Amino acid sequence: MIEFGKTGMKVNRLGFGGIPIQRIDQNGANELLKFIKESGINFLDTARAYGESETYIGEAIKEMRDSFYLATKSMARDYEGMKADIEKSLSCLQTDHIDLYQIHNVQVLEIENLMSQDGAYRALLEARDQGKIKNIGITTHTLESLEKIVEMGTDYFMSIQFPFNIVESQGTDLLTKAHEKGMGTIIMKPLAGGAIEDPELAVRYILDQNFTDIVIPGMGDIEEVKQNIQSAKAVLEAEKHEFTQEELVKIEEIKKDLTGNFCRRCGYCKPCPQGIDIPLAFLSARYMKRYNLAQWGYGRYMASNLEKDGEFACVKCGACLPKCPYFLPIPDMLEEVYKTKLETDKSRRQEV
Ligand code: SF4
Ligand code: SF4
Repeated sequence: MIEFGKTGMKVNRLGFGGIPIQRIDQNGANELLKFIKESGINFLDTARAYGESETYIGEAIKEMRDSFYLATKSMARDYEGMKADIEKSLSCLQTDHIDLYQIHNVQVLEIENLMSQDGAYRALLEARDQGKIKNIGITTHTLESLEKIVEMGTDYFMSIQFPFNIVESQGTDLLTKAHEKGMGTIIMKPLAGGAIEDPELAVRYILDQNFTDIVIPGMGDIEEVKQNIQSAKAVLEAEKHEFTQEELVKIEEIKKDLTGNFCRRCGYCKPCPQGIDIPLAFLSARYMKRYNLAQWGYGRYMASNLEKDGEFACVKCGACLPKCPYFLPIPDMLEEVYKTKLETDKSRRQEV
């Protein structure tokens, strides 16, 4: 257990990311949260935007609320919207207080408005004064916002949630600074949205960083919980944690393999007016290129609706572009996926 910044919370450095719980039902969520409690994980992170996640968690932990610190977040940017969302979160989570309430996925240009008289921040301050929330935090995906947030420090935000993993280390210096200033650091996207396929190594890599307070891998079943606990133990219980030579080589290989623009599968770009499942299309391309998984990738490609009657279905309307927190050139990248599929078709025909 560590002190989580200046919040007064004592947390296990392995936390629970609440996105995948949407995949299961209430019974599954009940079993999962029971197992999580028995495992000693005491920090649960969810969001208003994660479908049924708040509701499932609230129902599952209502008899063991005191065993957990609850963190959630809202995309609301104005006072009224945030006030309403805090009430909704309290109701869905079946609790009279939330330990950490975060402003979700903030862009640097939004900060001034958030802090204004009509902005969301005032609603958070009021809720904190009323004891409905205990701490105010913030989450972002961009370095510009991170810089501004770290500059503002704990006078405004008790924690910062930011992506960091083997292939996304751009936040290292600022996260270190945040940690030194006493802000609680929560690391999201440990697997870069599923792009890194060695969860064991990925979680250890993050816990090995001095600036990491909590890492929150998404967990949707008991096997995933067990696996994450194993990884965490390897770092947290070791006298001195070190990577083997073989692991260091693997880390370098992952970095080389995933440089440049790649989709982290956050899903913020959805929905596409043409019905294209953008993250699924990107995922399919990676698998189509792998010999032993090409068929699986092909199936995902078909399910993504990137092709309609054999033609590229993206009309390049650009609706997805401002929604991607990583500023990916989505239509151009999708065109590359389409080309990959055409090449796969060609090589399949040659094989027959
Ligand atoms: S640019 Fe293409 S992928 Fe993006 S929203 Fe428009 S049609 Fe969909
Ligand atoms: S394209 Fe961007 S917004 Fe869409 S899932 Fe990928 S990373 Fe997220």
